[in-house]
Amino acid sequence: MEYSPPLGAITFALNSIADLTADLEAGLHGATGSDMQASVLAEAGRFASGVLAPLNRQGDLVGARFEAGQVKLPNGWREAYSGWFRAGWNSVDLPEEWGGMGLPTRLAAACMEIWTSACMSFALCPVLTQGASDVLIDYASDAVKARYLPKLVSGEWTATMNLTEPQAGSDLGNLRCKAVPRGDGTYRISGQKIFITYGEHDLTDNIVHLVLARLPDSPKGTKGISLFIVPKVLSDESDGSSCVRNDLACIRIEEKLGIHASPTCAMSFGENGGAIGWLVGEENKGLACMFTMMNKARLYTGLQGVAIAERAYQQALAFAKIRRQGRVSGRAEMSPIIEHPDVRRNLMTMKALIAAGRAIAYSAAAAIDRANCASGLAREEARLLAGLLTPITKAFCSEIGVEVTSLGLQVHGGMGFIEETGAAQHYRDSRITPIYEGTNGIQAIDLVTRKLARSNGAAFLLDTFDDISRQAAAAREPLFANLGLLVGETVGHLRAATSYICSKAGAEEQLAVATPYVRLFGITAGAAYLTKSAAAAQRSLASGVEDPVLRDAIAVSRFFVENIAPATAGLLRSVLHGADSMKAGCLSDFLA
Ligand SMILES: Cc1cc2nc3c(=O)[nH]c(=O)nc-3n(C[C@H](O)[C@H](O)[C@H](O)COP(=O)(O)OP(=O)(O)OC[C@H]3O[C@@H](n4cnc5c(N)ncnc54)[C@H](O)[C@@H]3O)c2cc1C
Repeated sequence: MEYSPPLGAITFALNSIADLTADLEAGLHGATGSDMQASVLAEAGRFASGVLAPLNRQGDLVGARFEAGQVKLPNGWREAYSGWFRAGWNSVDLPEEWGGMGLPTRLAAACMEIWTSACMSFALCPVLTQGASDVLIDYASDAVKARYLPKLVSGEWTATMNLTEPQAGSDLGNLRCKAVPRGDGTYRISGQKIFITYGEHDLTDNIVHLVLARLPDSPKGTKGISLFIVPKVLSDESDGSSCVRNDLACIRIEEKLGIHASPTCAMSFGENGGAIGWLVGEENKGLACMFTMMNKARLYTGLQGVAIAERAYQQALAFAKIRRQGRVSGRAEMSPIIEHPDVRRNLMTMKALIAAGRAIAYSAAAAIDRANCASGLAREEARLLAGLLTPITKAFCSEIGVEVTSLGLQVHGGMGFIEETGAAQHYRDSRITPIYEGTNGIQAIDLVTRKLARSNGAAFLLDTFDDISRQAAAAREPLFANLGLLVGETVGHLRAATSYICSKAGAEEQLAVATPYVRLFGITAGAAYLTKSAAAAQRSLASGVEDPVLRDAIAVSRFFVENIAPATAGLLRSVLHGADSMKAGCLSDFLA
């Protein structure tokens, strides 16, 4: 199945919702102008459809293989990776100082969406390399930066995130990997990590691991975790060339439900005396440093939901146009199933959830841009907004990824369940996204316990959503006035739920209903952002611009607000009353 990047919808979302052109023209990104958007996205799209999309099916069927301690990716992957990093794609939003393009994170996110739609297993690798580069830029010593950043920013080397251990998954305070100072400024790292994405592979000559470990006598829990950079191949101090193998190895890769070509590795460090590593950031502050990487990875995990959903939508749409069953009234011959209202509903639901997910993810990326580049109050507000939108993007967008890929199977009927069709791969690939990078349950807890508290109950964001609904309600066209009223109701549900959640700070009730609260927040944000984009589309149409993307933006917003957003009334009930109906021990099954 081919993939065609939806450049029109992406560009429109970047500008009508995430205000990219407006920010560029206001000078937020220095001298970077807005005219490069179209060419960057078009080139990223060409690489996605021409090089990456053809790898996707083979990646699923052949997958990563573990042979004699080496991890091998399917034929064609090494060449594709080489072409990708040589084209400079690893560094879209990484700083020019280190060889990056220095473009906005919004644009990098849009490119990553496109590459992930084309081949998610491939795109996972650069997400980690880029996140690790961000961490090193913020926290590494000058010597470590000089040695590793140029090759990580370019993508000549890749990087990993080594957090998880068998007894330390969501609860990283439990991790046991050790780091012992050698007395020369380096450390000996030992222990086991599991589930490490691209922990080993044959795409590059070196792999740089960012490893969380404990120093001797460090405090218990998360306050005693430090961060180390531990390369697979140590550089020769004298000339910087790669030569000595570090004391670490991949001992196994996992058999998985999906993303078969993304190697998920069990890593062993220090079997022969200790892998050599360098401290990044301060001792015992490793988790805080790692959050730089985890926040980017959370944004991109949410985007993976949107990206796979888009791929599934394109496939379902194409199938619905050629599969004939039944007759719609007035037709003499069998109808393509796309003519049946129920199939259209499934396709519209897919398209509307994708648009809402994209709107939220790009808004989060815009907040990250402003948090990095704005000044004063705007910067502080952007930092809070990025903090709020990150768990919502991760949880809501990954969830809709699974829903949309499931609807994609439904549109295919029985053929969706048959592997040969390829629709099932999207469903299997998407299923990991609500689990890794902090499960969605953990995201929900982060939102209700930390992010709401820090942002005064998300007050400024609720006000923004209300402004959007009021402006739409004031419109002369009945369609927009109605959208405004409905979005206003939805925001009212979110306000009531937020007051309740904030009133239960520290109580079990708050944790019990965090998941329906994230969903309510995600749907409300989707409704508000899509209404904003519909209003922008309407303005363009009124000024004489004719583009199907504009009419689609209005249709999708209307469908979302009228068909998906009403769920917030029920979600509010779940938030207000859900905790009572699930008090600990209410099921006999739960008793020991
Ligand atoms: C394919 C794949 C790739 C991965 N890549 C990486 C990687 O590159 N680097 C890395 O370090 N890790 C990686 N991981 C690990 C991943 O991040 C963890 O699996 C995830 O964080 C969950 O941890 P866990 O599996 O131990 O589940 P657990 O923590 O055991 O959770 C089990 C269930 O309990 C819930 N739960 C746990 N604690 C709480 C709590 N306090 N409150 C409420 N609910 C709770 C969870 O939400 C979940 O539903 C990967 C995992 C997979 C499967």
